[in-house]
Amino acid sequence: MSKAQLFPVPSMSDDERVRVFRRVFDATGDYEGMEVDAYVIITERYVVVLDTMLCPADVVAMMSFVTDELAGRMVLCVDSHADWDHAWGNAYFTDEQNAPIIAHDYCRTRLLSQEAADELAEFQQSCALFREVRLVPPTITFTKSMVIHGGDLTIELKAAPGHHPDQIVAWIPALRLLLAFDAVEYPLPLMDDQRCVPDMFTTLEQLVALQAERVLCSHGKSTSPQLVADNLQYVREIERRSLLLLQKHRPADDELENASTLINYPFDEVFARTNEGIDRTFYAQGHEENIRSVLHWLMEK
Ligand SMILES: [Zn+2]
Repeated sequence: MSKAQLFPVPSMSDDERVRVFRRVFDATGDYEGMEVDAYVIITERYVVVLDTMLCPADVVAMMSFVTDELAGRMVLCVDSHADWDHAWGNAYFTDEQNAPIIAHDYCRTRLLSQEAADELAEFQQSCALFREVRLVPPTITFTKSMVIHGGDLTIELKAAPGHHPDQIVAWIPALRLLLAFDAVEYPLPLMDDQRCVPDMFTTLEQLVALQAERVLCSHGKSTSPQLVADNLQYVREIERRSLLLLQKHRPADDELENASTLINYPFDEVFARTNEGIDRTFYAQGHEENIRSVLHWLMEK
């Protein structure tokens, strides 16, 4: 892997202890041009690696930027959730580089699942990058919260279901910095299915209440705390328009194909306030799936 595919992004951080790294996935296909960020936080006692990106080589590349910081500090790894763009580099932290991998308990379940094994096999067939990936589950898990006391910095890990049930965020009170990973996303958050809808509301409300000064997300390059409220407003708007539809009509499954038309919430209305460089096709599809999830959730309530 060339360095150009993974690089530090110092402009994303205003504290030198928090290092931001960006991985650009340039393979052709569904995820062409996808970008994901991960973090290394240097505290007095620990070097904390938050997310392992796509493969162990990604972690090798990230660690090469912090070698001078390793002496006298123990390395800890944190997975934000089990998705392939966040936790598939976990194998780096086995054998010689053995380190605890901390995550939500359900992240462990997901990484041990047949579904994850099948997904990896599929990715390995289409792209050589994934041949080195081994699914390594977290070794220390929690369900609600966990605190890393680094000495000069405290990192609070909090369950933040909504994108997926195993999603967590990292809150660093001293910096009023929220690492939201995929709990918040630009231009819009993505919900795995209808089970995630009520959790998404609760999580976004809790994250707004933190009153962060800076919010970093894994995708979309945003640092603005306003994005959390915007994401909440977006999901509420889907709910509002879905309820309007359901007052008149209960859609059958085949009608849900064009969910945004059904509730009259076109993607362009959401997309109007977004920057260039966002994968329009990907988020348009995400928007449709979000609406389907909300409608299913409302109809089953
Ligand atoms: Zn992601």
